[in-house]
Amino acid sequence: MHELALLQELCTLASRAAAEQGASRIHRLELRVGELGGVDPQALRQAFAVVAATAPWQEVELQLEVVPTRCFCSHCEQPFRPTDVIHACPTCGALSRQVLEGRELELVALEVS
Ligand SMILES: [Zn+2]
Repeated sequence: MHELALLQELCTLASRAAAEQGASRIHRLELRVGELGGVDPQALRQAFAVVAATAPWQEVELQLEVVPTRCFCSHCEQPFRPTDVIHACPTCGALSRQVLEGRELELVALEVS
């Protein structure tokens, strides 16, 4: 389960950021997870449950924002939301090679005290 390794890495980063702010407690973590990022939000939550069993993560609330995939059609010059793994433009049918959003895995917010 690579989500666990990913999450542990994010938690390490979050702890470091909290320490840099002189904080001793982390209250909330907010992550943005792209649909195409290869990370399963459900697995990420399960991984967090593993991490949350250990200090200092027991009281931390995890918030996940799933970012839907958005592609750009260079033919129509318009962004669109692909309906399946083949990123075909719904207007002209051209395959898009440009993914605007959906690959991210980011720590967007960290609440500490
Ligand atoms: Zn198009």
